[in-house]
Amino acid sequence: MTRHAEVVIAGASFAGLATALALKGRDVVVLDPKPLGHNPKSANTTPLSTLRALRLLGSVREIHPELVIHFGPQSVHLPSSPAFATVDYQRLCQSLAKQAGIEVRPARALGYQPGRVLTDQGEITCRFAVDASGPAAVLASALQLGYARRRFMAAGLETELPRPPHFPGGLHFYLDNSLPYGYAWAFGSGESVRFGLGVFQAEPYARDLKNGLRHFLNRFDLEPTSTHGGLIPLRLREPVVGEVLVVGDAAGQVLPASAEGIRPALYFGQRLGLLLRQALEGSLEGSAQTLYCQEVQRHRHRFETLEKVQRLLGTAPELSGWLLKMGSGLGITRPFLHGYLRTFVPEHLPSDSIFRH
Ligand SMILES: Cc1cc2nc3c(=O)[nH]c(=O)nc-3n(C[C@H](O)[C@H](O)[C@H](O)COP(=O)(O)OP(=O)(O)OC[C@H]3O[C@@H](n4cnc5c(N)ncnc54)[C@H](O)[C@@H]3O)c2cc1C
Repeated sequence: MTRHAEVVIAGASFAGLATALALKGRDVVVLDPKPLGHNPKSANTTPLSTLRALRLLGSVREIHPELVIHFGPQSVHLPSSPAFATVDYQRLCQSLAKQAGIEVRPARALGYQPGRVLTDQGEITCRFAVDASGPAAVLASALQLGYARRRFMAAGLETELPRPPHFPGGLHFYLDNSLPYGYAWAFGSGESVRFGLGVFQAEPYARDLKNGLRHFLNRFDLEPTSTHGGLIPLRLREPVVGEVLVVGDAAGQVLPASAEGIRPALYFGQRLGLLLRQALEGSLEGSAQTLYCQEVQRHRHRFETLEKVQRLLGTAPELSGWLLKMGSGLGITRPFLHGYLRTFVPEHLPSDSIFRH
């Protein structure tokens, strides 16, 4: 396979597909060795506002209008506006790809040389290369040793089980001093519930995730069946390496404390795609790489604030629960949550007519 494209994107998940969607009508090649949407690794929960903006409501499995934080024997209910939704990952990916009008090429990106993406199926010359390959950041890592350092990675493991009778709605989080430097969750998804356990530092806490998940499920008298999960980069990385633009998990664009990565992956994917579109149309003032770095930099303080919240959650989970409960009583939690949810919402692109074909 030797060919040319305007943009080559490595990775066909949230970040890569959102980038492709914003580039609709341009000559874009998206690469992924895995079949589209067959490789869910997450609880796939994201705010409805994000799904609505990208016309992805068809992938919703269950809507959750509140967060329920359990700590020790107590709990606090926090209404969420907008509500969150658990989604069907495969449907969401298929919908993004269909809207973008792309077919994903079954190929593994291996590296980058100026103007060329190297793959296991040959090379593709291009004007822009985007690395949306998830935590391992294959293109950026091939250019810069140590780019995807394990030191700043969190990890999560999850199992999806048939819904126990009367399992309530809401996104349930468990802050518990017996859990290792992280939190557990249980999110209803229609007929099933996604039970998971996450740790804020993969080293050393991820070594025993399987046992931790089993231990967590004991309280529901359940056993994990098949599991999925992986590493979660919880620290922003350089968004441009050489000429390669890096987005989503590959660029560490995951919100600390919650480990919410879908919303920022879709947001930054869209921002990046729109910048590249302008660059290709010749209407961009400045280089796409510089402007993309500035866009990410504009949000750095949000990531840094959440890192502080994460430190508290990790070291004193039950105290954090108490503080949330007190904050809720005093009316402080709601504006904080509102501010948290207002950011990183992708733009609603009004109609296909804005795209040139
Ligand atoms: C257990 C767990 C639960 C989570 N729950 C949530 C949640 O509920 N809500 C939330 O917002 N976030 C959650 N996250 C985080 C979220 O999953 C990620 O932030 C999100 O998937 C990032 O999207 P992405 O497109 O950047 O990367 P990914 O979803 O990791 O996609 C990367 C893509 O690149 C492909 N790829 C890999 N190597 C190559 C290569 N060499 N060439 C080409 N393609 C390649 C992969 O096959 C994949 O399709 C969770 C994470 C975990 C581990």
